[in-house]
Amino acid sequence: AIDIRQEFDVDAREIDERLRPQSLDDVIGQSQVVERVRVMLYATRKRNDTLGHILFDGPPGIGKTTLATVIPKELGVDLQIAAGPALDAPKDLLPYLTNAGHGSVLFIDEIHRLRPAVEEFLYPAMEDFRIDIALGEGLNARTINMQLKPFTIIGATTRAGMLTAPMRDRFVYREHLDFYEPDDLIEIVRRNAVKLKTKVTDQAAAEVARRSQGTPRKANNILLRTRDFATLKDPNGEITTEIAAHAMKMLEIDSLGLERQDRRYLKIIMDVFQGGPAGLRAIAHSLSIPADTLEDDIEPFLLRTGLIQRTPRGRIVTQRGYEHLGVTPGPGLRS
Ligand code: ADP
Repeated sequence: AIDIRQEFDVDAREIDERLRPQSLDDVIGQSQVVERVRVMLYATRKRNDTLGHILFDGPPGIGKTTLATVIPKELGVDLQIAAGPALDAPKDLLPYLTNAGHGSVLFIDEIHRLRPAVEEFLYPAMEDFRIDIALGEGLNARTINMQLKPFTIIGATTRAGMLTAPMRDRFVYREHLDFYEPDDLIEIVRRNAVKLKTKVTDQAAAEVARRSQGTPRKANNILLRTRDFATLKDPNGEITTEIAAHAMKMLEIDSLGLERQDRRYLKIIMDVFQGGPAGLRAIAHSLSIPADTLEDDIEPFLLRTGLIQRTPRGRIVTQRGYEHLGVTPGPGLRS
């Protein structure tokens, strides 16, 4: 199976680092979340307290890591970064916890993928800034307690629903990040073009924004590819509407912002499963893409745009989905 997410990540991570906002003022859109974060930060500073644990959930590339990196900067405290799936056992978490300075932030990405043993080890750390370390085995087994400095965990997840209840309950603040409004994405494209020292016309910026599935990471990605194309084709290296249109064609990004893999997903349900309902695993198998990747990276936008529906029996391509691909539904379509 090809994990498109991994392939994409190598590229994406580098771009993310270059274009990531450095302060809360730099964060565009999500105004209600940002406003609430400002209040948290203000109250924490005023009380000279440690910030309560925060959970951010939302689709990939939507700004969870961005907020998690901006918050410690605003507070002037250290940040450590860990990835949920990379923590195999409690001992892998130990260095992060013992290194966590007073008031510092530990960011755990994909926190819904923590193993149960790691998660349980984290509970007392989150609640009482204490860990219980098991030593020895059998009759000689004992537990020692270790006191930690008060610190903050910021968790990020693409699946709030997959978090266990006890884990979820330990977060004082829970914030959901949703897809961006077109104007916010345009602003992100404009600002990042400046950071990349690239000129982009207003119309072209709007075009890039419109095709980026409401997702800043995708907007950045398209901007970078389009900029390459402009360097090649435009004497001033400027991203014009024409250049943007050519680049979209080359990148196979359609009018709604769907990429090749999104269309393949729709096609498989139409062709192999007569429009559905089709189970997630069956679709994943037909596409040779992990089910997780489908659920995290591909389905959220298709659901939001109403191209597919989720039913208890599986996924269905809607009338709109058929229309978008210019296909006439067979007799099997039920929606
Ligand atoms: P996530 O952690 O949700 O997968 P990131 O925080 O890594 O997403 O966001 C990916 C990239 O998108 C960032 O590096 C940044 O350039 C851009 N980005 C995300 N959210 C915003 C925002 N609110 N304002 C400006 N840029 C953003």
